[in-house]
Amino acid sequence: MRFNETLEQIKIYEAGKPIELVVREFGIKEEEIVKLASNENPYGAPPAAMEAVKESAAKIHLYPDDSMHDLKRALGERFGVESFNIIVGSGSDQILEFAARAILNSDTTVLMSRITFAMYEIYALQQGAKIVRSGCYRHDLEEFYELYLKHSPAMIHICTPNNPTGDAIDREYLYSFLEKVRDSLIVVDGAYMEYAAYKDERKRIDPKDIIDRFDNVLYLGTFSKAFGLGGLRIGYGIAKREVIENLYKLRPPFNVTSVSLKAAQAALGEIDFVNSTVQKSFSQMERYVNYAIKRGFEYIDSYTNFITYIFDKELSSKMISESLLKRGVIVRDLSGYGLNGIRITIGTPKQNDILFEKLDEVLNGY
Ligand SMILES: *Cc1c(COP(=O)(O)O)cnc(C)c1O
Repeated sequence: MRFNETLEQIKIYEAGKPIELVVREFGIKEEEIVKLASNENPYGAPPAAMEAVKESAAKIHLYPDDSMHDLKRALGERFGVESFNIIVGSGSDQILEFAARAILNSDTTVLMSRITFAMYEIYALQQGAKIVRSGCYRHDLEEFYELYLKHSPAMIHICTPNNPTGDAIDREYLYSFLEKVRDSLIVVDGAYMEYAAYKDERKRIDPKDIIDRFDNVLYLGTFSKAFGLGGLRIGYGIAKREVIENLYKLRPPFNVTSVSLKAAQAALGEIDFVNSTVQKSFSQMERYVNYAIKRGFEYIDSYTNFITYIFDKELSSKMISESLLKRGVIVRDLSGYGLNGIRITIGTPKQNDILFEKLDEVLNGY
């Protein structure tokens, strides 16, 4: 048996630990576990989406509408683009995968930030492509441009706001970069755009505006974060028709479930629910900023529903996240990204109370 050589370089992606695992490993009761590791919406799914899930139960013996007509129309109206500008995937992750397969092979290079969403690297390595990273963990687009000139990457990833750091770039700054780079496929990942746009209008990247101006940009959005549908695996890509048509050639049939399609469509109609959870998330974020100041931690000003604390050498992010886990609080250790820090999803007020209580316990006993 011989596996593809490209697989030798790939480390299996480690998702945020599920609640079930903490129940099994530490014997903590499910209702006492606080999961702040995967940037889900802690206030749940929009009520209309839950209703749509119940209603779609009667039809789960049928394959979904493979044209995804209704959801595409709803997305098209939301963003002011045509259905042929849209592709829907099993999470925006699946669209990242299509993009990598459409563009990359072992003769190509991908450019990305030093610290960014881990799947960009994994999909690139699956194609045998070479990876070039910026030195700066923020999206320093002057540096990106120099690296672009030097390496001629076939694909460039820009994650704004960026996961796992939480910082975002200004629209005008992004545009000035896009003006100069007309050949690579540039993936602009807006998984947290609802948060960024709420906090600061200058960070809002509008997919229609972007595809009207640039032929080589693929904008990605997801229902997993602000829209509260992480369990349903659904996201979308928006680009010029030619890009979408090529991605479509890689799409397996029925790649999104009927239940997910209905729930996403319903969620799009619940803008008030989504906005109110975004607002609550930022108001709770202030507690995390104050906590960092009180403890003297470095933190990154966040445009998302999570915050990243960076520790001095005396503290180990790995030990802190493990100690929290034993106490039933799941956060994301960033040592795998080369950062001595943790990423915490902003929870409900009650979840945050518990996080601070347990983090105090861990730090006071350090
Ligand atoms: C969560 C996330 C995604 C993908 O989420 P899906 O659940 O696959 O839609 C993509 N990019 C970033 C930066 C994310 O944080």
